[in-house]
Amino acid sequence: MKKLTQLPLLALRGNIIFPHNTTQLEIARVKSVNTVKFALENGGKIIIVSQLDSAKDVPAGIDDFFPEGVYAEVTGIMSQKDDILVVAVRTLEGCHILRADCSGEVYFADAETIDYYVADALSAKAMYQKTLECLDRYANINKMLNKSAIKALAENSAVDYISFVDVVANDIVFRLKDRQEILAEPSAEKRMEDLCVYLLGEMEIAKAEKRIANRVKKQVEDGQKEYYLREKMRAISKELGEDENEMLEYRKRIEDSKMPAETAKKANKEISRLSKMAPTSPDASVIRNYVDWLCDIPWYKETTDNTDLKLARRILDEDHYGLEKIKQRIIEYLAVMQLTGKLNGPILCFVGPPGVGKTSIVKSIARALGRKYLRVSLGGVRDEAEIRGHRRTYVGAIPGKIIYMMKQAGVINPVLLLDEIDKMGKDQRGDPASAMLEVLDPQQNNTFTDHFLEVPYDLSKVLFVCTANATDDIPEPLLDRMEIIELSGYTEQEKVAIAEKFLLPKNMKSHGIPEGRIVIGPETFLKVIERYTRESGVRSLEREVAGICRKVALKLVEDKDAVVTVTPENLHEFLGVEKFKDEAVDTEPTVGSATGLAWTRVGGTTLAIDATLFPGKGEILLTGKLGDVMKESARTAISLVRSLAEKYGIDKERFEKTDIHIHVPEGAIPKDGPSAGVTMATVIMSAFTSMPVSRQVAMTGEITLRGKVLPIGGLKEKALAAYRLGIKKIIIPKDNLRDVDEIPQDIASQIQFIPAKTIDTVFDNALIKV
Ligand code: ADP
Repeated sequence: MKKLTQLPLLALRGNIIFPHNTTQLEIARVKSVNTVKFALENGGKIIIVSQLDSAKDVPAGIDDFFPEGVYAEVTGIMSQKDDILVVAVRTLEGCHILRADCSGEVYFADAETIDYYVADALSAKAMYQKTLECLDRYANINKMLNKSAIKALAENSAVDYISFVDVVANDIVFRLKDRQEILAEPSAEKRMEDLCVYLLGEMEIAKAEKRIANRVKKQVEDGQKEYYLREKMRAISKELGEDENEMLEYRKRIEDSKMPAETAKKANKEISRLSKMAPTSPDASVIRNYVDWLCDIPWYKETTDNTDLKLARRILDEDHYGLEKIKQRIIEYLAVMQLTGKLNGPILCFVGPPGVGKTSIVKSIARALGRKYLRVSLGGVRDEAEIRGHRRTYVGAIPGKIIYMMKQAGVINPVLLLDEIDKMGKDQRGDPASAMLEVLDPQQNNTFTDHFLEVPYDLSKVLFVCTANATDDIPEPLLDRMEIIELSGYTEQEKVAIAEKFLLPKNMKSHGIPEGRIVIGPETFLKVIERYTRESGVRSLEREVAGICRKVALKLVEDKDAVVTVTPENLHEFLGVEKFKDEAVDTEPTVGSATGLAWTRVGGTTLAIDATLFPGKGEILLTGKLGDVMKESARTAISLVRSLAEKYGIDKERFEKTDIHIHVPEGAIPKDGPSAGVTMATVIMSAFTSMPVSRQVAMTGEITLRGKVLPIGGLKEKALAAYRLGIKKIIIPKDNLRDVDEIPQDIASQIQFIPAKTIDTVFDNALIKV
């Protein structure tokens, strides 16, 4: 170890030089130039050390330097130009810096040299060999290393391990930190080990880099390969005329479809666009999809109508029991259609509660005409695009329901059932009803335009038939174009007949039960109707009949010759416990409680109404989910009773001191309409006079403040509902008397209809004088 005192100090930035090397240094900073010149003038000896922070222009002292540097000799000035001094330097030994003085124009330092040493000659030799091996391998990736020089080193038996590391490291170790570590390490073995570690690390990095580079290269190559293959494939298919084939095929399909000339022109134009596109591009598949639609919808194909009206009638009879008037109307409609050869009559719309056969009668019309039948459900359709399609610019656009159904039909003249047209909604996405208007209007529907198709399509040969539960919710303009055909509920007798003649045979067939294996009489069906269903139509009845068939099918599997008899007594074995108890109406006359009749979307029903009085201040409480109209008629009823107080011996002052609570039970069902007016008036009158109301009587009718009874709708449904409950006396508005004819004779004859012109008639017949 040698002490070096007050030697000039050259500060380097971003570089560390190893001992045992000669090198050139470029010096630019003024104080560094001064320092070098001073050294030259004083024998050339100098200490060179690297700054920790190379961005720092003026180092302050020892803390700004790496702790180790190199003791060197400046051998001469190589050049000096524009304040940049280039000097030749020979580095001698490594050194630890002990002191640095950067305060003057020349920097000075004290240092002591590092005593590099070989601890064990053998292990140093082994390490040396190892290092040479690493170098040899490293030379494969770093072309700066000369393999033959390495070989020469290997053959040299008298190597100085210390200067060997200095020379090699000076050339191949790049990172400052690694250089510093090797410079500072005094043990020769350890220095070689550090060098090896460094080399191995570099080789790993190089390998990883190579892997990455290869991957990048491969990806580029793969992309090019695919592109090349595709191009080649296209060239080949062009050569083979296949590309052409697709276009030719399309052109033939366009021709075969016999679409109108304008439409064909458009389709052909699209095909020309397609031929210029890459076959796999997304745009190409949009065009294909579009032209496929144009080719697939029917443009000319139609079925021939059955013109034999007798046959048509027979088919209608075959499918449905009763419905005389309706079948007659259908036959007339078909006759007009045949005579005019056109479909410009009104659109038939079957209206009625669920399960009365609206859908199935339309199916039957199609069968009678020999046309294809399709059904579009409009319930819940809110978006115009569902009817009229989305524009092609939308991703995944398809035509609307109408065009979709036409494709299904495959002919231009199907029977298209527009189911639940009253359940169509409307929102911000447009009004589907206006699109439907275009579909149904014979003036317009020969040029119906679907947003997707973009070309007009002729719907004029389609026989549109609609169904709805009620006409109230059918948009007015649509209603204008329709002929409403009402199907009201069935009587019990009718239901028994339908079950016997239609539902049972149909279900036996679908359950695979041979004829004659079920013995079931009308009284059993009656029990099914009374105890297992409560409806206007026969939908639940059909479900129950299917239930019986399932059980019978099971028995037949166990014993294939069995004949199963179903009776009212063993019915529960087939259908389980009864769903509805015998609802014999309270026969005891009650004060403040009466039976009204209502008509709802699902048919007629009875409606119990109660009134109770409390001491109070003349307030009125109405409960039971009543609509506004019903609330109004309750108030009218109270005012009416009040105006009749004297006549019926009620103390007028009582009204001021009494709160009236009117309740219509079965609160879950929303109720509205004015037809409960008479019933309300009756319960209030009964409550104030304490005259009980007869439970043998049901009533319906609107009232005025003057006590007139106004006519109501749905009498047939209401009468059937009353009849179902065993009520044989019904008070009806006088003006509704003519509707009694619509009620099936066998039922009408069992009910006593009491026509009322004023409320007095109602009170006379409903209130029991005590
Ligand atoms: P809707 O469309 O009115 O809700 P459906 O047409 O679905 O009712 O009828 C329900 C079931 O009842 C169908 O199987 C139908 O064939 C049957 N049906 C209804 N009315 C009759 C009838 N008059 N004669 C025979 N079967 C009927």
